[in-house]
Amino acid sequence: MKITPLGAAGGEVTGSCYFVESDKARILVDCGLFQGGRNIESLNRSPLGDHLGHLDAVLLTHAHLDHVGRLPLLIRAGYRGPILATPATIELAALVLHDAAKIQAQDAERRNRHLQRAGEAPQAPLYTQEDVDAALRLFQPIPYHQRFPVAPGVQAIYLEAGHMLGSASIQLRVEESGKTRVVVFSGDLGPRGVPILKDSETFTEADLVFLESTYGDRDHRSRESTVAEFTGIVQAAVREKGKIFVPTFAIGRAQGLIHMLACLMEEKSIPSFPVYLDSPMAIEASRIYTRHPELYDDDLLDYLKGRPFSSDFAQVIMTASAEESKRINEQPGPLLVLAGSGMCNAGRILHHLRNNLWQPGSHVLMVGYQGHGTLGRQLVDGEKVVSIFGEKIAVKARIHTLGGFSAHAGQTDLLNWFEPLAARRPRVALVHGEDTQRRALARCLSERHQIHAHLPLMGESLEI
Ligand SMILES: [Zn+2]
Repeated sequence: MKITPLGAAGGEVTGSCYFVESDKARILVDCGLFQGGRNIESLNRSPLGDHLGHLDAVLLTHAHLDHVGRLPLLIRAGYRGPILATPATIELAALVLHDAAKIQAQDAERRNRHLQRAGEAPQAPLYTQEDVDAALRLFQPIPYHQRFPVAPGVQAIYLEAGHMLGSASIQLRVEESGKTRVVVFSGDLGPRGVPILKDSETFTEADLVFLESTYGDRDHRSRESTVAEFTGIVQAAVREKGKIFVPTFAIGRAQGLIHMLACLMEEKSIPSFPVYLDSPMAIEASRIYTRHPELYDDDLLDYLKGRPFSSDFAQVIMTASAEESKRINEQPGPLLVLAGSGMCNAGRILHHLRNNLWQPGSHVLMVGYQGHGTLGRQLVDGEKVVSIFGEKIAVKARIHTLGGFSAHAGQTDLLNWFEPLAARRPRVALVHGEDTQRRALARCLSERHQIHAHLPLMGESLEI
């Protein structure tokens, strides 16, 4: 059998997709979108379906766009088989894919205005809402911890990955010529002690492991010290009646922050003050999070003591419409606004930053990774003047960077996750990481287990 990464390899982090071929079956694990910059995003237009031919099934690890965002392209290529995922992943993927189709329609409209002026032919969006709906009709729910058949000679088991609601690592048992081969896909792994979710679980058997390596070179700052720093910043800002703006990803990070704020208010570490969730997508994602108590960890269940998780969100002011969002600007401090996008390169956070960055009483809390070339990175790097909607804005607000809220496992957690698999000395392929991170993790695996990990290129097949 052979497995070919069709994304998130060769030092690329996005576009996760693995093509698994045996003598009897052909399946995909994940089918994610390439994201970040025009060059990398042009890969989304390469003909995925033609390359794959007949597929028996598609399995998803979790609902982030870089793991599900090319699914509608499979539909366009004629795929009509099952798409298997946990129930929470199915709900979140619907939200993520509809949003992606909306953004692609807006991007195509803008691009076509330029093309028209240049006298060139218009370009269709990558896919439409209809393609998304067709993909969603193929979804079938899969429980955790149960072995089930997915294609001729192939069985799968899903385990908790602790990365986002519904996230899973997947083990495939593939029968070929009377032999069974076992392949494990870590998917994206969460750090241990992640709030809301259970910690990741590990398989004990594999011939080949595809291990994510996003933070293969380092450990995050501890969650405790990050929460302490966050608490201090909020206490001071509230005392000064300041306004706090938190650029945040809509799924996972926003819910984690709201839960943390609710805990801090309940234990009176911070006073009760207005918190706004200013993102239609985060509002919807929060509803999905409150519908899946079976996925909560013991800490959350203890804290809730039988209350519904929605009680945390009831304390937050949800501003779904643009009008409600605009009215936040008229409110006096203290207040805190959670708004997308997480890297300040789009979304409502841009309006808030334009209105408040130049005001010395404002605070911006960076709680996630800020990619090169984004406004978020400029702020973290200490730029004194930035451009928002073509307008020069002075940066007088205090910019705080908090490093311990990552949804990805750091180096130690990655190595600990791999530990139970090491005894069987599987082959290891490091994926979903830049080369510096992959090489650092490869060095650790070599030192600790004398296993020489492979760093596959995109399109490079591994045979077992
Ligand atoms: Zn992810």
